[in-house]
Amino acid sequence: MHILHNYSLKSLNTFGLDSLAKQFIILNNVSQLETIATILHNNNLNYFVLGGGSNVILPPLYNGYVIHNCLYGIEMLNQDDNFYYVNVRAGENWDNFVAITLNNKWYGLENLSLIPGTVGATPIQNIGAYGVEVKDFIASVEVFDLQDNCIKHISNSECQFSYRHSIFKTTNRFIVISVVFKLLIQAKLVTSYGDLATKLATITNFTASDLRQAVISIRQQKLPDPKIIGNVGSFFHNPILENFQVMQLKQLYPNLPVYPLDNNRSKVSAGWLIDNLGLKGFKLGNVGVYAKQALVLVNYAAATQNEIINFATMIQDKVYQQYQIQLNIEPIIMR
Ligand SMILES: Cc1cc2nc3c(=O)[nH]c(=O)nc-3n(C[C@H](O)[C@H](O)[C@H](O)COP(=O)(O)OP(=O)(O)OC[C@H]3O[C@@H](n4cnc5c(N)ncnc54)[C@H](O)[C@@H]3O)c2cc1C
Repeated sequence: MHILHNYSLKSLNTFGLDSLAKQFIILNNVSQLETIATILHNNNLNYFVLGGGSNVILPPLYNGYVIHNCLYGIEMLNQDDNFYYVNVRAGENWDNFVAITLNNKWYGLENLSLIPGTVGATPIQNIGAYGVEVKDFIASVEVFDLQDNCIKHISNSECQFSYRHSIFKTTNRFIVISVVFKLLIQAKLVTSYGDLATKLATITNFTASDLRQAVISIRQQKLPDPKIIGNVGSFFHNPILENFQVMQLKQLYPNLPVYPLDNNRSKVSAGWLIDNLGLKGFKLGNVGVYAKQALVLVNYAAATQNEIINFATMIQDKVYQQYQIQLNIEPIIMR
């Protein structure tokens, strides 16, 4: 197995940060995993798995091992009355896979179209968009457990999924090898979310593929393309508040968008909170709030990890001062 040294990660992270990995390994065969585990144990070094780099804020030098997941393959396993079960290796591009599901009439993932990154990262933060979360379509996750040195299958309930969260965010002992998706045989389209409903209202008898195209078109209008301007999508989670707090806020800010979560709690739009402070388009040095979407921070030139964190802290402080709400950062800050 080849270990590369001082390897540049600039083209492997969508924020476009200049970052060197002290050691870099391309994982393209499951048989490498035991050797990787031995190297990591023997040297007691930092490590992380890098997929598409679309949810990480990298340091100028990562003093440890970066394991770049390049495991590929898509395999239909079986079906029951309601679902097809499809095993997908972690390195597959997520949006390519979503396109493949629709070509095969496997339904459920259409609202998650055009989210950058790899399949293996989707369970990590339980990706979600337009009223759908990936957790509802994951049967199990195959991992290599670096602690017990073996392959394991983690069931959906063991993944402990919640809003942008899972067990994989609480430990880095697991390298995701593949994900088994359970995809609907009969499409059940989720169309109620904001702009999507408006967009689809113009199409009669729309299909899952129309829904995918609508999502793609909305995302292309609203979100910056990382190939053109560095970003990691939403930079902050939508805060989850008790409903009585939401009611108090709504009295002060009637236009604040609210998304009910359960009987007692709702999510409120972090983007709206930032936008309402007049920060859309605000720029300081190399970092700024995207002019078309206040939830997205962008790298205008040669931003560094520190610059981004300082900018994000400033936004968090302003939001707290105005609304007494603490915003949490969504991407993973690698140290
Ligand atoms: C323009 C844009 C739009 C976005 N829109 C959305 C959105 O709508 N919804 C949403 O939820 N997210 C969104 N994101 C965030 C991001 O695309 C997702 O979180 C995506 O799943 C990250 O995939 P990745 O392969 O790039 O992960 P990376 O950034 O490479 O890694 C993210 C984390 O997962 C870990 N990881 C990655 N692969 C593995 C593996 N195989 N095993 C173990 N750990 C692993 C990494 O160590 C890291 O902690 C957006 C990002 C961008 C740039």
